Amino acid sequence: MVTFLMATMRCLREINYSVNQQKRETVRQDAQDVINVQRGLACGGWGLGDRMGSVGHSAVREARRLYCTARAGTFLTDSMTKRKQNKDKTGTASVKNRNPSITARYFEQRGGEILETIRQLVEMESPSDNKEAVDRLGEALAKKFSELGGKVHFHRTAKFGDHLQVDFAARDDRKPVLLLGHMDTVYPIGTLATMPCRVADGRLWGPGTLDMKSGIGLMLHSIEALRARNGESPRSVTVLLVSDEEVGSDSSRHITEELAKKSEAVLVLEPAYGLQGAVKTARKGVGEYSLKVSGIAAHSGLDFKKGQSAILELALQIAKIAEFTDAKRGLTLNVGLVQGGTRVNVVAAEATAAIDVRIVRMKDASGIDRKLRSLRPFNRKCKLEISGGLNRPPMERTAGVAGLYGKATQIAKQLGWRLGEAAVGGGSDGNLTAGLGIPTLDGLGGVGEGAHANHESILISELPRRAALLAELIEAV
Ligand SMILES: [Zn+2]
Repeated sequence: MVTFLMATMRCLREINYSVNQQKRETVRQDAQDVINVQRGLACGGWGLGDRMGSVGHSAVREARRLYCTARAGTFLTDSMTKRKQNKDKTGTASVKNRNPSITARYFEQRGGEILETIRQLVEMESPSDNKEAVDRLGEALAKKFSELGGKVHFHRTAKFGDHLQVDFAARDDRKPVLLLGHMDTVYPIGTLATMPCRVADGRLWGPGTLDMKSGIGLMLHSIEALRARNGESPRSVTVLLVSDEEVGSDSSRHITEELAKKSEAVLVLEPAYGLQGAVKTARKGVGEYSLKVSGIAAHSGLDFKKGQSAILELALQIAKIAEFTDAKRGLTLNVGLVQGGTRVNVVAAEATAAIDVRIVRMKDASGIDRKLRSLRPFNRKCKLEISGGLNRPPMERTAGVAGLYGKATQIAKQLGWRLGEAAVGGGSDGNLTAGLGIPTLDGLGGVGEGAHANHESILISELPRRAALLAELIEAV
């Protein structure tokens, strides 16, 4: 009841605003809205939530009404919008409709709804290794996207959650924009018990708030806004939400790459960089290698001399591998895992190391691969086996990436802020699409800190302008 009253009051405030600001036809529409509010038909809540099932496409209609309210003095009724579309089937109508300050105002009114959507998503835990849980989230998202008019398709996988693809068709013939993200998180089921989803200090806290359920929430609301503004999607948009990004994207990689190749550009809704909310225009490439050393086991007391220690050999190799790091080039090697031996009184017959490799430039990949593969044993009685390779190519700041960033900064400027850029060491699926030469802009998601940590949180105040940026960018690309 309280929620309904608040929603009604909010709606009435907007209506007052419209009545004061707009022409006669707007007033007429708003009068109808007042009646709707009294009947509980309008502004009754956030249409993308559970209510959505019973109200059908009214979420989009309601969004459109809000959008029109935001467009003070240039109100378009449904029928006017249709007439405009009929006149211009080439898609230019949508471009004409662009006006970042109206979009900003629209999202300022909807900040609470965006927050509520993200909260719902966070409360559906979705660790990469729990197919059932990720599938549950996938189904809920499929419902939300299809209620916005998207065509849903699941790419079934046996081990991970099914990857979710949603296509929004449009009349214009531009290639689609791919909105890329992931549903999985690094947090096991039950994390919410110790790390509850809550609002405090201007932030939404909880597992996956930043990485990257806020990004998914922004996708939903941007698409809703674009449909509200244009009556349909102003250009074709493909959404891909994979379920295995946090564990290397092995099962989704080919889908991401296929869809990217068909797209004009890729917008990745991974978290922004830092509390200033910079987007990511470069990411290091990531490789993973395994070095296995085989020695000869022996009793450390009786037969010490017969033993050939794999652990000793591995230790020497690790020191050698550390020398391959070239920090100036952004090339780093980290031995992050070592295993070996069986007992303290046995000379170890086996030892292995897992090596994380990061590169800034693709051309460094073959050089480091060659160096690792040409490691030779210090102790000739030990054998080395090296396996692995580059998982994700670097996302380099190509002309295509810079062009996208340029468009984004222009929009941000129109929205009244300066959008920074950052080059980061961590990889994402944006690396895969950028590696194919498709213009990619990453870090368009939530602004916050503590990804993968127990202080993971997003800044609530940033949500409206991030949503506005995304909506405008989808059209502008
Ligand atoms: Zn992520």
